[in-house]
Amino acid sequence: MSDAIPGLRLLARDAANPDDGAFVENGVRLGGGSFHVIAGLCAVDTRENIERAFAALERAGVVTARAGAWKPRTSPYDFQGRGAACLPEVFEAAGKHGIRLVAMEVTRAAHLDDIARALDLAGKPTSVLVQIGTRNAQNFELLKEVGAQQRFPVLVKRGMGITLAESLLAAEYVAQAGNARVCFCLRGVRTHLGEPQRNLVDFAHVPALKRLTRMPVCADPSHAVGPRVRSPAGLDDLHHVAAQAVIAGADLLLVDVHPRPDQALVDGPQALTLDELPRFLADVNIARAAYEERRRAAASIPAPPAADAAVSFEALRRRFEAIDSTLIALLAERMAASRAMVHAKHALAHPVVDPARERDAAVARRALGDKLGVDGELLERLFAEVVEWSRRLQGG
Ligand code: PEP
Ligand code: MN
Repeated sequence: MSDAIPGLRLLARDAANPDDGAFVENGVRLGGGSFHVIAGLCAVDTRENIERAFAALERAGVVTARAGAWKPRTSPYDFQGRGAACLPEVFEAAGKHGIRLVAMEVTRAAHLDDIARALDLAGKPTSVLVQIGTRNAQNFELLKEVGAQQRFPVLVKRGMGITLAESLLAAEYVAQAGNARVCFCLRGVRTHLGEPQRNLVDFAHVPALKRLTRMPVCADPSHAVGPRVRSPAGLDDLHHVAAQAVIAGADLLLVDVHPRPDQALVDGPQALTLDELPRFLADVNIARAAYEERRRAAASIPAPPAADAAVSFEALRRRFEAIDSTLIALLAERMAASRAMVHAKHALAHPVVDPARERDAAVARRALGDKLGVDGELLERLFAEVVEWSRRLQGG
């Protein structure tokens, strides 16, 4: 069975485009066997917090950060982000601490210009991975505008309350508009069935995305599970869920980190502290090593024939057998009718062979064959045998 996504053309992985759509931005390779953790503040608040967070990333060897300037919020009374005003602080701290890529959500096209201007003014110390938030996965005009620019790659987050296929078309919008440097990010799906976690964690879709699309696959465990809770084994739900994505082959993780989660203006309860970051990264590395090990082990197993082909081959064989059985049963009926005809013709003193009747019957069969798309020669040969056999049974 084919599960290709209708409408996913540029970003689909299929026989025509079997390779990974990896790309490099500002020296950071995304996809293509690489792995990065994008960590940082859900929303930029103070210069000091961004500085402390990026310094912690540098100490941990992380070169990909997140820093939200524009925050789409459910309530108009909630903090909406500092907007363009915080960009100089973010880019300066990024340059200082070797951050090569900052993931940052835009909610309107003008934000792309704000980012480009601030980066240029700061002397291009870093680059930006433009994020499309879950709430904008069907903001088609925004998707087109983000796709129409080539300067920044894009991270599209799975849409809220829409199917995975519909979310993938959000990414296709970006590619179709001209920018195929797109990553796709799972972040859980909104349903009460996810309780007690914030969303229903959807990281089982990592392998499906790898199979269906060429995009580097990201997972956001922070927005998927929500507030931090400790599970047995000394690990939080956040660690376990991040490990699920990584052990299945996610190319990127997006995670909230904050120097003072209690003071964060957005999503503080789900953020790791700076002290907790190294332990989290170590746990993620265990999962990544396990994924690599699983890949190596799988490479030594001979590849089975493509599942689709094997399934349809078997199904078609069974269908052949069923049709042939029906044909044989019909032939049995036909021969029984031929035997009965011996008596009917005898009673009426009708000749066994009636050439005019046989010609009419052949014309009628040919007409039906044409209508049903059965080749005329096949019909002629088949019925030559059937009629000949029938005559014999009638002693003709
Ligand atoms: C975010 O990453 O800060 C965010 C708002 O995520 P989402 O769009 O997935 O809710
Ligand atoms: Mn958030």
